[in-house]
Amino acid sequence: MHRPNLKSPQLVHCALARPARRLQHSQTRTLLSWLRRKTGPPRAEPGSGKLLNADDLFYPLSQSPFRDLQHRSRAIKEIAPCPVCLEEDKRVAVRHECAECGWPTHCSEHHWHDDKEHAKYCARLREANEDEHDLRSGRHFHEFDMPGFPDTEQAISLMNWDVLWYTRGFKSFNNERSRRLASKVLTYPFSIGGVLHQNSALNLRNQRLTAEGLRSMTAIRTNLHVPTGSPEQIMGRSNFEKVRIFILGARAESFLPFGLWQQMAFLFPSANFHVYFIGPQISLPELVTLPATPDQDFQTIVDGPAPGQKLWRPPTPPRVHPHPRTRDVSQYYGFPAYTTPFSRLIAFTGIRALYQDVHELFAPFDPYTDVFFNFSPGFGFPSPNHPDLLQIASPDAWGPVVPKLLETKCMLFLTGFSPADIERDVRSLDTAEGVAGEFDFVLTPGDNPFGSEKWEVNDFDPRVIIKPNWGIWGIRGKRRDIQDGYVFTL
Ligand SMILES: [Zn+2]
Ligand SMILES: [Zn+2]
Repeated sequence: MHRPNLKSPQLVHCALARPARRLQHSQTRTLLSWLRRKTGPPRAEPGSGKLLNADDLFYPLSQSPFRDLQHRSRAIKEIAPCPVCLEEDKRVAVRHECAECGWPTHCSEHHWHDDKEHAKYCARLREANEDEHDLRSGRHFHEFDMPGFPDTEQAISLMNWDVLWYTRGFKSFNNERSRRLASKVLTYPFSIGGVLHQNSALNLRNQRLTAEGLRSMTAIRTNLHVPTGSPEQIMGRSNFEKVRIFILGARAESFLPFGLWQQMAFLFPSANFHVYFIGPQISLPELVTLPATPDQDFQTIVDGPAPGQKLWRPPTPPRVHPHPRTRDVSQYYGFPAYTTPFSRLIAFTGIRALYQDVHELFAPFDPYTDVFFNFSPGFGFPSPNHPDLLQIASPDAWGPVVPKLLETKCMLFLTGFSPADIERDVRSLDTAEGVAGEFDFVLTPGDNPFGSEKWEVNDFDPRVIIKPNWGIWGIRGKRRDIQDGYVFTL
């Protein structure tokens, strides 16, 4: 399950991948420890717990007080080419850090000065620089003080971030940076909630949901919402079937504290969820034993298939301290795995495996209870090991997976970081055997009201700056009512 190198979760996870402790407890403390790093001398008031003040968030990356950002500067200098040299058909690594944005952007000050294009994205890079330092600053992250169980009388609206935060009782955010950080950590849970909820902004009226989509959505919503007019029932006490959410190729998603994921469950007070994180790079709790293989988890630059080629490989998120109810279930699945019954509303299972190797264990599938999500799958990018194939068709990427998902007739939702990124993935479907002609759109490709609003910089080329989960779309295996001689009952 290789995602291409500039896919958003990898970039998200760069900033999320901090040593974590006691992820399941106090949200505020959790996120503080989650984001804080061992670092150089504090800049802020000694004893305040803060490392940087709000007016002290800009550093050239190589001079950052945070070692991981210094490391990132070195990584970019190894792999990113100078854009001015590229125009002259020369590939020269970046060395010079722009004094305005702090990122390594050119081979020399001379070429930095010559490049009139840089001004177009320098401000975004500067914003990203300050956001990365703010995340590590040790300040109190009031934006992560999450609301608890919902007031079932209050109607939740999922039109956009502002309306959701207001109707769910989040504290108001007093600046753009707080909004950006909150959207960055909540984009995964709320992208799921935002599409499945009956008050979704993506509906028939605005032609994002298709007629086929409505049919599928009506089915799964019978296990998410009580009938219109009935009061929502007390959390997790309804007789609804458990809804299984499979997150394929999970990486950063699997590293988010369970409490953040529970915010998704709070949108559906009557429902029961089981979230499955499945992929070769999921985060695992410390109690799960891993096979004794050389640990390359944090190696981010690896040799590519061509001689001398360097690839940036996203690191696997680090191990986390287990929740008291976490159990090792590796024996059951045959792969390193854990399960955590977190609350009455939501349970989690993580399996470090290729999805195709565990698919059959979850059969039978039911469109009334099961749904798949794949954040930034990179279907349309070349496969690293089979450069003549796109990842949608590659045997070691999504080739064996998507036809199996379509067979289940359950919905599959996908995200991308820009219109071009999504278009590339959508077009790739027509090139893959077992996929082309075998699916219907349930959600037309377009923007996602719950995308991250924080800019993420691509280490491969700092000119590429993206917002994870900018867009969302969905498909489902084609119904063949007549040809197959039975009526599919959705
Ligand atoms: Zn140059
Ligand atoms: Zn700059």
